[in-house]
Amino acid sequence: VSFLDSLKKHQADRRAILAANFYNAETLLAVLRAAKQNRSEIILQTSSSTLDYLGLPLASAMARAASKQEGVQAWLHLDHCPDPKLLALCVDCGYDSVMLDASEKSFEDNVHLTRQAVERAHAAGILVEAELGTVPKLGQPEAERSGLTDPDEAARFVETTGVDLLAVAIGTAHGFYKKTPHLDLERLAAIQKKVSIPLVLHGGSGLQPVQWSDAIERGIVKINFATEIKDTFTRSLKGILASGQEIDLRKTFPPAMQAVTALVAAKLALCANRN
Ligand SMILES: [Zn+2]
Repeated sequence: VSFLDSLKKHQADRRAILAANFYNAETLLAVLRAAKQNRSEIILQTSSSTLDYLGLPLASAMARAASKQEGVQAWLHLDHCPDPKLLALCVDCGYDSVMLDASEKSFEDNVHLTRQAVERAHAAGILVEAELGTVPKLGQPEAERSGLTDPDEAARFVETTGVDLLAVAIGTAHGFYKKTPHLDLERLAAIQKKVSIPLVLHGGSGLQPVQWSDAIERGIVKINFATEIKDTFTRSLKGILASGQEIDLRKTFPPAMQAVTALVAAKLALCANRN
């Protein structure tokens, strides 16, 4: 089964595939163990900062090796890439999908850059995600209504770019929320009516369980989840380090990994949308 077929199947069944970011071997294994436990497939995401941190050859090879070792169907995705050169390197490295993020540029520039990425990636059989509208980045103020995705523009964007996955702005943001965000579900339903490709929701950390199913019921098939993974790992590790003298990292890391596995398993259950 191809990644695109799997996305379409999930969308038709009103289920989503969790897209979890990893940062090191520990978070990678923790995420994969959750997928294994839940018998789910999963999308493993590297941001460009993670690629700066680990290096592309190591990040991609460890993701592939770990998925195989754990027996999990995992798709490797490049998250939020503003740089066509890095995107091309990931295409050459055999990623399953790449995100060209020109969402802060004009509609025309976003179309142009996305189209270029689509040409480059499709030649290698790789899917492209783009974002239309603005999902605020970490530290940016919450979206104005004007930053949300317009359904008619979305239809035009998908048609002219040939993009495979569309990230929509319907009220979510990156990082932790100060209060539970309001999701514009009418807007999402209107986008889904006009756009037939799989839709992506960024900013999964901190959403209420009902918001996951509300989004999945309206065509969201990939939900990005990162902030809570970093937070859970680091806070758990801090507690372990503060409470003892253990210096063997093979003993200090596993409880933090288990905390991440439990967190991700709960989100995978929401993606299965069995209610
Ligand atoms: Zn994002």
